[in-house]
Amino acid sequence: MTEFQFPSGFLWGSATSAHQVEGNNSNNDWWAWEQAGRVKEPSGRACEQYQRFEGDFDLAKELHHNAHRFSIEWSRIEPRFGERDEAAIAHYRQLVAALRARGLEPIVTLHHFTNPQWLLAKGGWASPKVVDLFARYTRWMVEALGEVRYWLTINEPLVYANMHYLDGTGPPGARNVGQGFLVIEHLARAHAAAYRVIHDHARASGREVMVSFAHHTQPFLPCKPWWIGDRLIAEETQRVYNHRMLETLTDGSLRLPGRPIARIQEAANTLDFLGFNYYGRIFLHLGFSGFSQWLGARCSTRHHREVIERNALDWDVYPPGIYDVLHWAKPYRRPVLITENGICTHDDTQRERFITRHVQWVARAVQEGLHVIGYLYWSLLDNFEWAEGYGPRFGLIEMDYKTQQRTIRPSARRFAEICRINRVPLAE
Ligand code: BGC
Repeated sequence: MTEFQFPSGFLWGSATSAHQVEGNNSNNDWWAWEQAGRVKEPSGRACEQYQRFEGDFDLAKELHHNAHRFSIEWSRIEPRFGERDEAAIAHYRQLVAALRARGLEPIVTLHHFTNPQWLLAKGGWASPKVVDLFARYTRWMVEALGEVRYWLTINEPLVYANMHYLDGTGPPGARNVGQGFLVIEHLARAHAAAYRVIHDHARASGREVMVSFAHHTQPFLPCKPWWIGDRLIAEETQRVYNHRMLETLTDGSLRLPGRPIARIQEAANTLDFLGFNYYGRIFLHLGFSGFSQWLGARCSTRHHREVIERNALDWDVYPPGIYDVLHWAKPYRRPVLITENGICTHDDTQRERFITRHVQWVARAVQEGLHVIGYLYWSLLDNFEWAEGYGPRFGLIEMDYKTQQRTIRPSARRFAEICRINRVPLAE
């Protein structure tokens, strides 16, 4: 069987986010939301990674990863407005040092869905104040972790805006299109401000940095391809969801449905690479379904004839999609890092197949000349899946939440082999 050799220095690893693994993030808005009973179960101790990170990074190293993506919990750094917690800053410094000591390239996310509770009291992401506040927090972190090369400002801005301000499944639970659009604009401005802060600091200290955000890429297809209504809504959603934010951060234009084009000049050219998260496709039909899908409503993957495989949450599993989204990156002329790709399943052989097939499609894209710099699996270990609680199992490492015992899954060993040899058999 022909094998594909990835370029040397290709980044292989996995991703996590603070609130999903650290435990006891009691100063953030998700914690308050959980305590108010708005989710299946509260995050509680999670994976106690705030204390156990050394052991977890040992496992990542044992699995031949050479990179690791994690996020900083803003509410730990600034538990009260304007107050820096030096111990928390020192913690993340230790974390970066622990990764480096194990040969793992740190990839740092500054915002992954959670906020300090005081920020919500100030209007959260719907208030323009957030831009400067986020820039100040970014400056603190860049000064503390100046030697980090890869920065992701914000995880999935559109998912964040949708989940927290349009369909209201996360705090503050708003369902308001006007606010949702404002939040999208502020996320773009905050990204741009953070981009400048990171670059100014790097320039002053003579270091090279690569800054992006983690973009949720999702092919949208019509439920009934023969019906024009479904085709139109799928095409429009595809453009808005997958391309608008990339356009804003490359040419400074923000085009949202039903709104005049806004110019956000400072956002132009604020991507050094593209961070892409990819999970699967969504099938849409024309019809109002609340706020979350604009004018398109999802049709169930259970009955769609194109869906041949699903994960434990019934999401579509479609490996060629990762190749498609890599092709979308072409007009933006930047290297791509797959910042997340993963599956929740109770069948670890399905995970093994999932990883191999997706990596094979990435290989094909690289073979065709696309500039891909790495692949990070979501997630290193099972963790807190937001509104879904602890049911979904995405981890390379299985968690026993009662005992905090970690067990490496066989799929993780298979992935480790790919990481070690930097090669994958090409799909037939
Ligand atoms: C998010 C993660 C989440 C994962 C699986 C991604 O979109 O960044 O926080 O756990 O999807 O749902």
